[in-house]
Amino acid sequence: MTITIDTAKLPTLLTALRLPTIARLWPDFCARADKEGWPAARLLAALAELELAEREQRRIQRHLAEARLPPGKTLDTFDFTLVPSLGKARIMALAEGDAWLGSGHNLLAFGPPGAGKSHAAAGLGHELVRRGYRVLFTRTTDIVQRLQAARQALTLAQEIAKLDRFDLLILDDLSYARKDQAETSVLFELISARYERRSIMITANQPFSGWDAIFPDKAMTVAAIDRLVHHATILEMNVESYRRRTALNAATSLRDTARDIDPVSASDTEKEN
Ligand code: ADP
Ligand code: MG
Repeated sequence: MTITIDTAKLPTLLTALRLPTIARLWPDFCARADKEGWPAARLLAALAELELAEREQRRIQRHLAEARLPPGKTLDTFDFTLVPSLGKARIMALAEGDAWLGSGHNLLAFGPPGAGKSHAAAGLGHELVRRGYRVLFTRTTDIVQRLQAARQALTLAQEIAKLDRFDLLILDDLSYARKDQAETSVLFELISARYERRSIMITANQPFSGWDAIFPDKAMTVAAIDRLVHHATILEMNVESYRRRTALNAATSLRDTARDIDPVSASDTEKEN
């Protein structure tokens, strides 16, 4: 077989081969290689390496988009000194992924509203995606609704299987799910399906007490907790609300500012009288 080589066909060929980076870069690189007398292998290696690097970047961007992480809530913007019980080193070790994701180990973050649970969970999610893992961040009530709709359409098993592609499922605000709001036994089925295979991270205001209100009956609550905690790391975040703390700080500095201004306004008032 003889192959006719037609460089004019190069853009079409590269597109057909799904090599967008090479398709973009080859004219410049070939011109440089011709001018500087690069060996052909060097040109080929340079282009291949850039394609691979950009492919990895495109993959991470895709995974970041599908993860639906709340924007801006990264570990860089998380102040670990405010939550000493969390331990920055421990969170950074978890952000490496590795063994715990491979064995379906879970993370359970507990703390009052405003403690930074969602932020910490999202930050961890960001890091894991950057390292090549696939993550989905969802409010628990949203996923319960989605699974409930699937159950009604008789596709619950498929819907749960679709979630298998995620190394980590972050179920935010588990304690807001209510058995009367939607049928939460689907949540139990999700937990059971992932047990010892795929990791779940949950955030909740209360650790276990009060979970009776989430699952349809006591036996299911016990069984769900049992599966979640069997291989799990518990992150206690019993700190005062970050929102309230910052609001109080703002109020205090406002009050101090008001005090500084006060004598002036007082003398103004005197003048007016
Ligand atoms: P929770 O999920 O525990 O109710 P959030 O994670 O939503 O709390 O935190 C409430 C707000 O305070 C968010 O805007 C979050 O970014 C911020 N926040 C909480 N803890 C911290 C922290 N340690 N460092 C920086 N921001 C924080
Ligand atoms: Mg939250």
